[in-house]
Formats: sequence, structure tokens, C-alpha cells
Amino acid sequence: MDMLSVKVLVEPEYDVVIGKGIIESAGRLIKNVRPAGVCAVITDTNVEKLYLETVLSSLKNAGFTPHAYAFKAGEENKNMETLTSILDFMSEIPLTRADFVVALGGGVVGDMAGFAAGVYMRGIPFIQIPTTFLAAVDSSVGGKTAVDLKSGKNLAGLFHQPSLVITDIETFKTLTKENYACGSAESIKMGVISDPALFEIFESAAPSENEMEIVRRAVCAKADIVQRDEKETGDRKLLNLGHTYGHAIEKLSEFSLPHGYAVAVGLAMAARAAEKMGDMSAQSAERILKALEKNDLPVSSEFEAERIYLSSLNDKKMAGRNLSVIVPKEIGKCEIRKIPVSEFKTYIKRGMKP
Ligand code: NAD
Repeated sequence: MDMLSVKVLVEPEYDVVIGKGIIESAGRLIKNVRPAGVCAVITDTNVEKLYLETVLSSLKNAGFTPHAYAFKAGEENKNMETLTSILDFMSEIPLTRADFVVALGGGVVGDMAGFAAGVYMRGIPFIQIPTTFLAAVDSSVGGKTAVDLKSGKNLAGLFHQPSLVITDIETFKTLTKENYACGSAESIKMGVISDPALFEIFESAAPSENEMEIVRRAVCAKADIVQRDEKETGDRKLLNLGHTYGHAIEKLSEFSLPHGYAVAVGLAMAARAAEKMGDMSAQSAERILKALEKNDLPVSSEFEAERIYLSSLNDKKMAGRNLSVIVPKEIGKCEIRKIPVSEFKTYIKRGMKP
């Protein structure tokens, strides 16, 4: 079997197993970290139809007793109501502290099932089985969990690391072109933050022929940052490159714009602003814009600078009256810059497509 593994060295450490066709062996892989027992498999209504049966039979074959719950797919359901329904489901099984949760799906499932596992009985273990490219390269690793509130994205959540991540790249085959591009956006972002070779795959090679390598590189890059700063008091902020712009745009679109698209627009805005402010060469900024476009991603939105600014004011990264903006310096190197919130308007204006 085509399989490799990356260790995330937090306390306690865990493996990210990446492979082809390994979803069928999920039960066996989980057996390495959890004793036989009861678990809740949380998924959404799209992934339910595609992969739930495979995961349930694999868990049963490995001696587990799984109970499945599927909520309605979509970012608009990443909220407190869905979280409550998941927790009610878990308590009705009933799950105990000896049991665990499996998050089977994209970033929305992972964020919510992880949150539920983190608060249920003050925290029980959970396993991530990401089924989108975006979740594989980003959200399944690092332990950030959250739901959206009316005021903005991911405003309620907690840090809760998974005990294991099982990424089967074969699941990307059923993604829409749009979903796939969202994974490219977060991977390109990771490349700009710290891995020029990862970025180059999106400039020249065909990403779909290099998925194992992309996921491995992105997970290694993220693990490296998370290991240094698990709770985002410093370097982990780098992972928010493009996100303050992106979250503001995502909210303005009332979540009709997929998260990865919003990140792509945010990344393009960060690159333009960095170029105009003399932080990044015109050539590097151009490479970022080109890589996004080459991978079917948008580099601008329909919203005006003023509206993006007003929308960004509710972003949780506003610490008091200052904001940490992530400034790209070159491909593979970014800087965290603390600025007064009002100055962010200038960054947004400079980030707009001329
Ligand atoms: P998603 O979970 O909504 O998945 C996108 C769509 O694809 C959904 O309709 C889903 O049902 C469907 N889907 C999932 N797997 C599929 C498959 N294999 N085949 C066909 N369809 C499939 O969204 P996403 O893009 O995976 O994740 C975005 C979310 O992740 C956002 O809420 C974002 O805030 C969050 N996120 C979290 C972190 C973190 O560190 N926790 C990092 C990045 C993003």
C-alpha cells in the first residue's frame, strides 16, 4: 500500500498517515491508538453517501462499535445549533470518556466534530479522516476547532488536537473542481509561508499528479509551526496569511464564496499590498497571482475596499485596537506585523485589483 506518515510533535504527539486507498483500513489504523470500544462517526450529508459505509465497516471489522451522525453539508451549518445536535447525539449513544469521535469529512466536519469532542465531558479523543484536499493540507492538522457566530467566522472554538489523522488522497477524486481548487489555495498559502518547493508544484507541475507530495509537504510545514506555537501566541499567526482579508470577504458573501476562494483572494490582496509597500518584489507578487490563477482560483472579489474593511472589524484576530497582519516578503518567507486596526484600511486599498 502506498502510505507514509508525518509525526506532529505536540503533547501528546500524533501521526498523520497519508496514503492511497487507506480509508478502507481506517479501523485497523485507529486500533493502533484506541482500544476497541464505542465511537461516534460525525460526517455531513454529502460525505455520508460517499464514504460512511466504508468507514463504518472498517471500524466494525477492527472490533469497534460505531454510531454515525450526518448533519446538513455546508459552511452555513457550521454553527452552535449543529454543534448542539452533535453533542445531543453523542450523549444519547451514550459516549463515555473511554470512547472517541471520528470526524469524517472536510474542514467543516473536522472543525465541528473536533469542537464537540473537545467539550464533551470536558474533552474526549478524536480522529480526523479528512476527505477534502483543503482539510488534508490544513484543517485536519493542528487542533484548531471552531464554529461560526453571527458576527464572524470561527469566533467560538478551542484547541483540541486529534489522536490520529488518516488522509486518503483517493477521496479527492470525488471533489468538484471548485472544492479541489480550495485545497490548492491553502497549499499555495503554505508554500508562500515557508516552503518554496511546495509553491513551485503549483506554478509548474500538475498538482493532481503530486498529491501525496503536496499533502506531505503542507502537513510538515504546518506541523513545524504548530510544534513551535501550539496556541497561536506567536509564529502560528503566520498561518493566517490572507485570512483577515479572506474572512471579511467570506462574511460579505454570506458564505456563498467557498473558504478556499476567499483565502485565494486574501492571498492575492496580501501580495499586492506587500508589493506596493515595498515588502515584496513585483516579481514574487506576480508569481503568487499567477499561481492562483493557474490553479482556477480568484484573485479579486466583487466587494469594495471600504466594505471589506468594515467586515474585517469583527474578525477575531483584532486584539484590542491592534491587528496582526501577515506580510509576505518572498516565496517561503512571511512576517507578522502588528498594526493599528485603522491602518488595515490602507493594506486593503493597496491589495485591491487595479
Ligand atoms: P467543507 O467541509 O464544507 O467541504 C466542502 C464540500 O465538499 C462540502 O459540501 C462537503 O460535503 C463536500 N465534500 C467533502 N469531502 C468530499 C469528497 N471527498 N467528495 C465530494 N464532496 C466532498 O469545506 P472544506 O473546504 O473542506 O473546509 C473549509 C472549512 O475548514 C472552513 O469552515 C474553514 O474555516 C475550515 N478551516 C479550518 C482550519 C483549521 O485549522 N481548523 C484551517 C483551514 C480551514
